[in-house]
Amino acid sequence: MDNKKLVEILQATAKRIEAEKAFLTELDNEIGDGDHGINLARGFAAVEKKLPELADKDIGAILKGVGMALVSSVGGASGPLYGTAYMKAGAAMKGKTELTPDDLAAAFDAAIGGVQMRGKAHEGEKTMLDAQMPASKAYKDALAAGKDVKAALKASVEAARKGVEYTKTILATKGRASYLGERSIGHQDPGATSSLMILEEFEKAL
Ligand code: ADP
Ligand code: MG
Repeated sequence: MDNKKLVEILQATAKRIEAEKAFLTELDNEIGDGDHGINLARGFAAVEKKLPELADKDIGAILKGVGMALVSSVGGASGPLYGTAYMKAGAAMKGKTELTPDDLAAAFDAAIGGVQMRGKAHEGEKTMLDAQMPASKAYKDALAAGKDVKAALKASVEAARKGVEYTKTILATKGRASYLGERSIGHQDPGATSSLMILEEFEKAL
């Protein structure tokens, strides 16, 4: 994967989030304040606007720029969370113009580390981590088992999909949804859902 491919993926992600804006907002209506789709669409519109000036930079710098655009344009919790994820991935990929399958694993790990640093959540608390953490594990396990990057990403998306399903069964203990207590059960987490979408765009493009 080179910087050109990454820019393509980011453009596709921005389109996808814009298209899913109403759905993500509806999910957040159930257990939050109904702005997740609006937040992310605003964030990725800012990313799209910034892409022309980032496109010729190295992968680390592009990811960092994406993170900064998200942090500065999104008001909700998801802006700083996703923003930190992209910035941390960017720092881990600093100076790189090409990513190997193992680099991708390291970038994914760094992104998750950023979300955890910001939000202090763990797996099983009904957050975006419930899609991201199983997805990262499945990707690494697949590579370790000798699968190619395409197969590994497919396994990763499947794990994220399962993670989203899992969020329906559990209680939220972080973020706004935690105010609902038991009533959060039965609803899928908006952030886990948007994380799945972001990953799906990655898989599609590669
Ligand atoms: P807000 O909650 O401020 O309205 P959003 O609606 O944009 O922000 O985002 C909500 C999503 O953010 C949740 O669905 C959840 O996935 C994620 N989230 C909230 N708090 C945390 C946290 N501490 N760690 C990880 N993810 C979180
Ligand atoms: Mg919200």
